[in-house]
Amino acid sequence: MKFNSKLIHGGISEDPTTGAVSMPIYRASTFHQQIVGGTPTWEYSRSGNPTRQALEQLVADLEQGIAGFAFASGSAAIHATLSMYSAGDHLVVGNDVYGGTFRLINKVMKRFGLEFTVVDMQDLAAVESAIQTNTVAIYFETPTNPLLQIADIAAIAAIAKKHQVQTIVDNTFATPYNQNPLVLGADVVVHSATKYLGGHSDLVAGLAITNDEKIAEELAFLQNSIGSVLGPDDSWLLQRGIKTLGARMRVHHENTATLVKLLKQDARVAKIYYPGDPDFAGYQVAKKQMNHFGAMISFELAAGLDPKKFIDGLTMISLAESLGGIESLIEIPAIMTHGAIPREIRLENGIQDELIRLSVGIEDEADLVADVTNGLNNL
Ligand SMILES: *Cc1c(COP(=O)(O)O)cnc(C)c1O
Repeated sequence: MKFNSKLIHGGISEDPTTGAVSMPIYRASTFHQQIVGGTPTWEYSRSGNPTRQALEQLVADLEQGIAGFAFASGSAAIHATLSMYSAGDHLVVGNDVYGGTFRLINKVMKRFGLEFTVVDMQDLAAVESAIQTNTVAIYFETPTNPLLQIADIAAIAAIAKKHQVQTIVDNTFATPYNQNPLVLGADVVVHSATKYLGGHSDLVAGLAITNDEKIAEELAFLQNSIGSVLGPDDSWLLQRGIKTLGARMRVHHENTATLVKLLKQDARVAKIYYPGDPDFAGYQVAKKQMNHFGAMISFELAAGLDPKKFIDGLTMISLAESLGGIESLIEIPAIMTHGAIPREIRLENGIQDELIRLSVGIEDEADLVADVTNGLNNL
């Protein structure tokens, strides 16, 4: 089955007992066991729930893994994944990971004795030389947030295999529609399904998917032991959102191409960050490993122009954190999503005060063009 059909018919797409074409929401916490000491399929909903399982099999199919696990948030999925490791283990981590992931690593996992080295994942030599005798995994995102830097998944996974360490990729920005890290050699894919997979800004959820039997067993154990599972209502809502991922992404991409063109030719925009722009540093690698380049754009205004004025000029696009929903969202990383990073470090990492991040929605292209023009004309 091709990807767009899998979105709708993959995993368990209908109720096996009634044929209902939408998987029912099984709210039961526990299940009647027919005999003492049997091996029932369903026992208790933390350990397994039919609605959650339908979603988990679907996402395993979409990422071409053997098992998927649904969590209460992307952060919970990342926490459970990092819980595979033990005190004294070392991980190499991308220097441009999601702020919450950075916080989880530095303020939580370090307390339990995990060690981390932060590296620019575009620099393969630096990645390899960061590997120590106690390294167990390499963890990164591609494209990154907000600079949309591209890491070469196949090349990094090859380095990892050579040193017998695992590769974990946060595939939130690309989505399985655009990129399948497991196929490129990664061992685990994590997602904040809060973003494109849910797609409607009405849900917080996370996923971990693997193609390795042993890791699958470990993640099942951790999901049940830690207990940060996704509830049946949200599992259903996420499965519903995923069904339209293909239709949504096609419009996201169309609108993004138009806006990239508009921004690129305007003198008030100094620099544009978009993996699909042939002038962008990561373009060649992105072209090699992604089916399409996604719908996140970052851009810098020309020196002296105030990003707040740009945003004040908008009438339709909403000022908000988060991304990946049907509605276009815009933000200034320096004072919003990345405001907690000290200014010197932020500038060192390439995040200028003038940087604007735009999550392009699926509104009418003409309205988006008009609104971005409003913003530019307000400068
Ligand atoms: C939002 C996000 C997360 C965290 O997910 P939550 O669902 O908010 O917990 C992790 N990684 C990336 C890339 C994200 O954008």
